[in-house]
Amino acid sequence: MKVTFHGAARAVTGSKHLITLKNNTQILLDCGLFQGMGDVTEQLNESFGFDPSQLTYVILSHAHIDHCGLLPRLVAEGFSGPIYCTPPTMDLARILLMDSAKIQTQDAEYANKKLRNGETPELPLYSEEHVVQTLSQFKIVAYNEEFTIDPSVSLYLSDAGHIVGSAAVHLNIKEDGKTTRITFSGDVGRYGDLLLKSPQRFTQADYIIMESTYGDSLHKDLEPIEEALREIIHQTCILRKGKVIIPAFSVGRTQELLFALNAMELRNILPDVQYYVDSPLALQATEVLRDHPEVYNNGVKEIMKKDDDIFGFKGLKFIESVAESKALNSDPRPCVIISSSGMAEGGRVKHHIRNNIGNAKNTILMVGYAEPKTLAGKLLAGDKKVWLFGEDYDVTAKISSLKSMSAHGDYEDLLQFISGQDPERVKRIFLVHGEYDVQQRFAQRLRDKGFDHIAIPEYHQEFEL
Ligand SMILES: [Zn+2]
Repeated sequence: MKVTFHGAARAVTGSKHLITLKNNTQILLDCGLFQGMGDVTEQLNESFGFDPSQLTYVILSHAHIDHCGLLPRLVAEGFSGPIYCTPPTMDLARILLMDSAKIQTQDAEYANKKLRNGETPELPLYSEEHVVQTLSQFKIVAYNEEFTIDPSVSLYLSDAGHIVGSAAVHLNIKEDGKTTRITFSGDVGRYGDLLLKSPQRFTQADYIIMESTYGDSLHKDLEPIEEALREIIHQTCILRKGKVIIPAFSVGRTQELLFALNAMELRNILPDVQYYVDSPLALQATEVLRDHPEVYNNGVKEIMKKDDDIFGFKGLKFIESVAESKALNSDPRPCVIISSSGMAEGGRVKHHIRNNIGNAKNTILMVGYAEPKTLAGKLLAGDKKVWLFGEDYDVTAKISSLKSMSAHGDYEDLLQFISGQDPERVKRIFLVHGEYDVQQRFAQRLRDKGFDHIAIPEYHQEFEL
């Protein structure tokens, strides 16, 4: 058999890894959208590097758009087989893909407004109809059960602790009378996450395809999240009468924040102000998370005995309409606004940042990784001027960050994830989903632990297993 890396190769988006068996079974691990890669992004999303109609099935590790966002395009180009994933992943993928189709359509309409005579109109990567078709091909597989896909392949999904429903994918593949075990980590979460269970240990693998996003960093905060949040909100809203603006991904990070704020209320340390979640997608995602209490860790289950709504507290309001979102701009009262996108590149949060960045009484709080080129990344780097909606803005508001609020594990978490493996028996580790310089340093950390055979695949590179 062979494996080919068609995305997240020396980069962090576009996850797509193709396993091809001698009997011509073609298994695609994830089908993510490329994002934020500059001018080449569009081109990367338009050509897979393989024929979708020849795929046998897809296995999806989790619902983040850089892992599932091109599934509808795959279907539009002729893929008609099953897509296997956990039940929460299916529920989250449904809302995220619908949202993505809307964004694709709006982007294409916007681009076509500026068309000159004779220019070809831009088409969206896919439509809502393609999403509906894609969703009909989903097949759910429970965690921790051996699932036979066909006579030569069985599948086992273990909890990866990254977002609700996230799984590490383990395949037993029979070929030429021997069985090969391949593990794909998906994205690996943290040990000791607020909401989720820790990543599970897994049976010895022959080959491991492993993410390496934070292969070179540690992101522990010195202070517990609740204390840090309380301090920032107290300083900003109570003492300075300002607003706290928090760019946060609608799925995962937003609910983690709500959970922390709810926990503060239970401890009677929640500052008494208005809290807004300004993202219709976050409201839907919070409902999906409420529907899957089975994925939470024991700490959360304890809290659920005392409080049946772990994401709801006094002063919280979800904002849906654009009009309500705009109304927040002219409301002078202190408040906390949680809004997407997570890296402040688009979405409603960009407007809130524009409206509040120029006043020293406000705080813009970053809660997780931000690509250096994005608005959140620039603010984190300490830029004193930023370019927003065609204008320069002075950064006068206070800029803060909570680094430990990351869905990805740091290098200690990644090494712990793999610590149950006997290095002598791992034939090769393929590092994916990371920047190349980070991957090289993570490869050294793995060698120090005795894993001698490590590859960092290039885009479209193929390996014989
Ligand atoms: Zn992810």
